[in-house]
Order: sequence, then C-alpha cells, then structure tokens
Amino acid sequence: MSKSLIRYQYFNQTVFLFLISSVFIYLGLGVFHIKDDVAKSEREGIVLIYKLYKKIALRHDVQSYLIENEHYENLDEFINEYKKITPFVVEDDKTQRKFDLTIKRFSFEEAKELIEKKRFDFERYEYRIWHEKEDLFLLGKLSDTEYLMLSKPISILDVVSKLLYYFSLLLFFILLTFVVFVLYASFEKENYTKRKEELEKEYKRLSYDTLQIAFVDTLTGVGTRMKLAQSLRDLIETSKRFEHSFSVIMFDIDNFKIINDTYGHDYGDYILQKVAATAKNSLRASDIIARWGGEEFVIALPMSDLEVAKNLAHKIKERIENVVYEKIEKVTCSFGVVEYIQDEDEESLFKRVDTLLYQAKKAGKNCVKYEEKIC
Ligand code: GH3
Ligand code: MG
Ligand code: MG
Repeated sequence: MSKSLIRYQYFNQTVFLFLISSVFIYLGLGVFHIKDDVAKSEREGIVLIYKLYKKIALRHDVQSYLIENEHYENLDEFINEYKKITPFVVEDDKTQRKFDLTIKRFSFEEAKELIEKKRFDFERYEYRIWHEKEDLFLLGKLSDTEYLMLSKPISILDVVSKLLYYFSLLLFFILLTFVVFVLYASFEKENYTKRKEELEKEYKRLSYDTLQIAFVDTLTGVGTRMKLAQSLRDLIETSKRFEHSFSVIMFDIDNFKIINDTYGHDYGDYILQKVAATAKNSLRASDIIARWGGEEFVIALPMSDLEVAKNLAHKIKERIENVVYEKIEKVTCSFGVVEYIQDEDEESLFKRVDTLLYQAKKAGKNCVKYEEKIC
C-alpha cells in the first residue's frame, strides 16, 4: 500500500473518530444540562413556595407549624396558590389532598442548632437551600425570631440523576469500546497489509528461485533438461500448427573423462562452463541451449532447417576447439544434427540425434554428423 494511501486512511479514521467523539460529548453535555435544568426548577419551586408561605403568613397569621398531608388554616388559599406555582402537587380527590411538601416553622432557639451546624449566615442571605439524600431543603428567615423550613422529596431529580449517571456511563463505555475497536482494527489492518506484502514478496522470490532451480543449470548457466523438454513441446506444437520446421543439435565433449581424471573434477567443471559459454554465445536469443547430461548439451533452433543447424554446429565446433584453456591445449566436441520431421514425437527426434552423435563418436570424434538423405 502506498504511503499516501495509508496517510489518507489515517486521516479518514481520525476525522471519523473526532466526529463520533463530538457526538458523544455533545450528548453527554446535553444530558447533564437536563439534570441542571431539573435541579434549577426544583430550587426555583421551593423558593416560590417559601415566598408564597411568607406572604400568606404575613396576611393571615398562620399558626400551623407542620403541614404534611394534613389540613391547616387557610388551606384552600394555600392550595390554590401552591397549584399555580408548582407542578409537584398530587391531588387525588377533594377529601384526600396530598402534598409532597413539608413546611415547618421554628423559633430561633429551635433553628439555632441547625443554623450553627450548617454555618448559615442569615445576615447576608434570606434563605438557604441544600440537598440531603433524596430531599431538597430550604431554611428561610421569616423574622428575627422565626424561621421557616420547607422540605420536599426530589425523587424526579434523583431518578434523572441516576438515569443520567448510567446513561453517561453507558455512553462512555460505548465510546471507549468504539475507540478501542477502531484502533485495534486499524492496527490489525496495518499488520495484515504488512504481512501480506511480505508474503507476496516471499512468494515472488520463492517462485523465482523455483524457476531458477528448475530451468537453469547451476554449474553452466544454460537451461536444464526440464527447460529443454518444455521448449521442445512448444516447438513441436508450433511446428504442427504452422508447419514451421526446427532443428536440434546434440553435442558431447570428447574424452572428458580423461580431462576429469587427469586434472580433477573442479577443472572438469571449469571446462564444462567454458564449453557451455562458448556454445551459448554462438546462438541467437531465440535459440535454446540446455545441459542434457554430464558433458552433453542440446540446442534447439526454432525456424531453422538442417542446413542452418549444420552450419551452426560446425561454427560451434570450431569455436570450442579454438578457445584457449588453462592447462590443456584444446577441447573438442562431437555433434549430431537433425531437422524435425513433421508429426514425429520427441522420443523419435532424440533417438535420431542421439544416433548421429554416436556415429560422430564412432567416426573418430570432433566432427558433425547429420542425416544424408535430407541434405
Ligand atoms: P566420449 O569422448 O566418448 O564422450 O568419452 P567421455 O570420456 O567424454 O565420456 P564418458 O561418458 O566416458 O565420461 C563422461 C564423464 O563426465 C564421466 C563423469 O564423471 C563426468 N562428468 C559428468 N558430469 C560432470 C560434472 O558435472 N562435472 C565434472 N567435472 N565431470 C562430470
Ligand atoms: Mg564425452
Ligand atoms: Mg557423454
């Protein structure tokens, strides 16, 4: 994968992560905003009730100290006013009025302990509000000697809080899972791509090595027997289809065993390399040369008749003979040359050329033999 493609991919992932995170943060903030709104309206509600009670108390000299689902003086007026300002009234029927509100009046002595405990400063504030567990409290100063305490359950706030808490936890874990997943996926993808590229390289290298081993003779650098077999199959096929002829030269180094025995195997290898290189350099790019066996080589010449092949064999014979070698004066080879006969198979072709090579050896070596009837 190209570097720019990887960069583009990372850019995309980053933008995607950023967008998703923004959505989650927006949702989270929105959710906390709701909680704040609920808390605020609860506070505003209790302040209004406080002010309302204060107003009624001033007008009617209210004596009830505790109002908790009970009747009290000026109840109707209070209920009417209360209903106007708060949504928290539950009215089951005319006789059983229920409030989720508690109002209590204190003398200074009664309130003193609480004021000191909470360290409220009523010189500066008329009332103070606080939460305790699921209740919202308001302590207000009616006069120098009287205090008013309002309390109401804040179950709605509590439920919302809990919901929000779980919801935000859920959001957080989803986001975390998502981020981990995306990071893990991109990491895995990169690993996979790297591994794939490595394997592809390795595969190419192995394929190349395999082909080299199968088709190139390691000692001489010419083709192998397998390479020749494949080329001959192609040549026979083409020859059948287009009636093009081709020729084959088989040659063998003369008295190679003596060279080997006299100068050693390594020197024999050196001669093999020299001979193979000389023959190969005498060929066209389309010709195929292969090592057939120990010191025996075969050349296939596409689109060439016997005459061409015969001349080439002579040329190679002379070149090999004229190469200057270390230690020995000269190396010679014997040659058999045939032109492919339409519809004959590989076996027949090799039998003919092998016979001619044998004849060349028999005839005293260092010569070229071919079938007279064709020439
Ligand atoms: P002729 O003229 O009749 O061909 O006789 P020759 O001695 O060349 O043939 P022969 O078949 O008797 O011996 C061929 C020798 O080639 C025998 C073998 O040890 C040797 N040889 C085969 N392959 C290799 C090789 O890869 N390296 C070397 N150095 N020698 C090899
Ligand atoms: Mg030989
Ligand atoms: Mg031989």
